[in-house]
Parts: sequence; C-alpha cells; structure tokens
Amino acid sequence: MTNGITFYRGPSQLTGQGDILAIVANTRKPSANTKTGPMSQLWILPATQHPHEAATTGDDVHVCGTCPRRPQTAAATGETPCYVTLAHGPGSVWKARESYPATPAPFRYPVRLGAWGDPAALPLDTIKAVIAASNGRWTGYTHAWRTRPDLKPYCMASCDTLADHAEARAAGWRTFTVLSTGATAPADTITCPASKEAGQRMTCAQCNLCNGAQGPNDRRKSITIAAH
Ligand code: SF4
Repeated sequence: MTNGITFYRGPSQLTGQGDILAIVANTRKPSANTKTGPMSQLWILPATQHPHEAATTGDDVHVCGTCPRRPQTAAATGETPCYVTLAHGPGSVWKARESYPATPAPFRYPVRLGAWGDPAALPLDTIKAVIAASNGRWTGYTHAWRTRPDLKPYCMASCDTLADHAEARAAGWRTFTVLSTGATAPADTITCPASKEAGQRMTCAQCNLCNGAQGPNDRRKSITIAAH
C-alpha cells in the first residue's frame, strides 16, 4: 500500500498552461512536521520538471502563481523567500511521483492543502475530492484569493499586509496574515497557537482553525503570525 494518492494531472488553473500534478502524500503514515503535527500533505508539483529547476526557470508560476515569496520574485523585491526547501519535501515527492496511484481512498489524517504550491492551481473539483478523502479535517491557504472566490469555503486568504487582510475580510474571506515587525494585529484575529510567539501550544492537526470560511455567518477569528 503506497503512502500517497495522485488527484490531478493537467494544466494549471493559475495560468491556464503548464502540466502539473496534485499528489497527497502521507495518507497512511503522517508527516513529521512539528508545527502541523500528524497530517497528510497536498503537494502541487510540475509534472515533468524538478521543483528546484522550475523555481530557477520561473516555471514555478504554474504551481505558485503570483505568490510574492517565489524565489525569483523575492530575489527581485527583497521579500523573505518561501521557507520550503525544494530539494526536500517537494523533490522527494516529485521523484516518487509515478508510484502514487490515482485511486482516491480515505486518509488516516487531516490534510494540509498546499505543503508546496497554491491550491488555486487546481480545479475546484480536485479540491473537493481531496477534502472528501480527508474526512472533513483540513487546512488550506491561497494567495489567489482575489481571483478564486470559489475557494473561500476551503482556504484562508494568505495576506502579507494589513491592507490585504482588510480587503480579503471585506470580500468574505477568513485570513492568515503575516504581521511585519511592529504591526498591530487586527481585532478580528488571534495569534496562531502553533507559532513561537504563542508558545507553540498546539499543532495544526489539533487546532484545525485554518479551514476557510464556512459560509457568511462563520464568526471564527482570522489568524496572524509574526514574520520571521
Ligand atoms: S491557526 Fe491552527 S490550523 Fe492555522 S496554522 Fe495555526 S495551528 Fe495551524
């Protein structure tokens, strides 16, 4: 029995081009990530290019879209680059990509949408299929919240400024906002309990707050975390 499932191969919904894969890994044996706790992980990957090569050529646009933390973009703007080490998780799953069957089966653990790559690269039906296999426990984040309102019930709007947070909230999203040094957290947010500043008192698998807005009456707080 393999430890992962392929949910999609086809063009990116972010660019209308490219050839990308959606693989949920750790479906039977969880990841060892200490922040998330035991979870399955959705990896959105180039189908034919190693992730590191895609980041070098800029072809990671098909999986990461306009994220300001893409290595090329961050190098040009001075933004903190993406924390994902492409040779590790993404590279390992990519090398094993042909070993994951395309037969959905229930996962043992909650799933994180987008361990690398933005869920907005995928069709909505693929997101729904992944969540259906997760027994309804997931976390998800997208930078494409301005263009993919259909993901509002499934993902947090990834925000890098307080202005982004205000705009996304006005559009009905719950947000996951990175606070720059000295910024004051908005009143409609709480600090991520897995963060260092909150004492790392909980994992995502336990907390599960980052699962989008469950309709217009979802009054749960949005989330902030300090920039590192
Ligand atoms: S708020 Fe909860 S689910 Fe969201 S990142 Fe923090 S620990 Fe994970």
